[in-house]
Amino acid sequence: MDFIIQASYFAAAVLFIYGLKKMSSPADARKGIVWAGVGMVIATLVTFFHPAIHGLDKVIVIAIAMGLGGYLAWTSGKKVEMTDMPQMVALYNGMGGGAAAAIAAVMLIRQDGMSQTVQILAVIGALIGTMAFSGSLIAYAKLQGIMRKTIRFPMQQLVNASTFIITVILGLMIAFGGAEYSMGTLTIFFLLALAFGVMMTVPIGGADMPVVISLFNALTGLAVGFEGYVLENPAMMIAGIVVGSAGFLLTQLMAKAMNRPISNVLFSNFGEASGEAQEVSGTMKEIESSDVAVMMAFAEKVIIVPGYGMAVAQAQHKMWELVKQLQERDVTVKFAIHPVAGRMPGHMNVLLAEAGVPYDIIYDLDEINEEFATTDVTMVVGANDVVNPAARTDPNSPIYGMPILNADASKNVIVVKRGKGKGFSGIENHLFFGDNTRMLYGDAQQVAGDLVSDIKEI
Ligand code: NDP
Repeated sequence: MDFIIQASYFAAAVLFIYGLKKMSSPADARKGIVWAGVGMVIATLVTFFHPAIHGLDKVIVIAIAMGLGGYLAWTSGKKVEMTDMPQMVALYNGMGGGAAAAIAAVMLIRQDGMSQTVQILAVIGALIGTMAFSGSLIAYAKLQGIMRKTIRFPMQQLVNASTFIITVILGLMIAFGGAEYSMGTLTIFFLLALAFGVMMTVPIGGADMPVVISLFNALTGLAVGFEGYVLENPAMMIAGIVVGSAGFLLTQLMAKAMNRPISNVLFSNFGEASGEAQEVSGTMKEIESSDVAVMMAFAEKVIIVPGYGMAVAQAQHKMWELVKQLQERDVTVKFAIHPVAGRMPGHMNVLLAEAGVPYDIIYDLDEINEEFATTDVTMVVGANDVVNPAARTDPNSPIYGMPILNADASKNVIVVKRGKGKGFSGIENHLFFGDNTRMLYGDAQQVAGDLVSDIKEI
């Protein structure tokens, strides 16, 4: 039986890795999720036959927990809007960290003859799992709009660093204390780790959330990996390490996209503005759909910059229809994707893939930024922060230093949005007031539909 259990865990781990490999391309990502899901089902079912699960009472408790968790995940997963996915991911990620921390807590409370190595790994997993749990809940609250403000106070760095150091010292006392540590020490250790997760996340705001979300994702993976070692469960170990390493790679990519070294992400109040933002001059100038249709139909080259608003409006299908019409008129059309556009990594790529937009007309920031200067019309669809020139010009802006798509360099810029709503970072966008910018107000799907009809009439 032991061989079958271990072989099944191994098969599950292989499926996780295969699934992840498939997820590296939007075309196969859906299949990747299914393969990884099959792996998870195998790993879960085989656990019922694990020698540690003896006795009907344990099986019943596990079945109840699985039924309850499965029901809640199924119903909430079916209900959730596409635009609310990032919050959902943050929440589930937090639960993963919390589950890893709970395993560690049980093992450390039992104190039953863990080896020194296992005890150390249990404590490390407990620390990072707990931090990832409370930090992810704050990230959820921020993405959901429950917590709008970033909380900063004098000497915050010092308070955070002190909390972290005390938590680590308590962790060391537990890790190397054999069975000597008290329940009091353990409780304070967990409470401080929870507090630290909250404290390190509350000052982070504006456009920097993507980095922190992928960091917590990586930390959760790592915590699960450590606890897999504690439980001698290879599937958990491998899954945790895969998620952890993929998460750290993603964190690095996101930090690079935001132009912030990871050390800055971890140890400073990043995204912090130091003074008054630059005044915006000029006015926003409105334009009619029919005029935009003429402008686009007779352009040689058009770049479309999608953002969060395109996701809200679910405008990707209509946008693709518009692009096909332009292509029929020999207009060269490209999509420009900023790495943090939308509310989750790869958000825009997923939406465009769903609409059937071919990958060879979708370009990353580095590939396309030089091309804006030679573009007749750039259409910004529900994007805001990712095209805000303040990131280049205003040292007091919270997004200063973040690479942006140079939409403002185009000959003409059309901005599609509903009104004067700000972007995620809550700041004014100088692009909208530019001489070469015109505002086409409305819901992105409606606007794209109108443009399709207007171009047909030309
Ligand atoms: P923004 O959030 O900056 O701006 C979105 C714009 O879309 C708003 O100004 C809004 O204006 C407009 N909009 C909303 N609904 C509609 C609609 N139905 N039709 C048309 N327009 C609409 O989006 P960006 O994609 O430019 O930037 C993403 C931001 O989110 C960045 O700051 C990024 O750091 C942050 N973020 C990204 C994450 C990621 O992983 N990608 C995760 C967490 C945060 P109006 O209300 O006037 O219509």
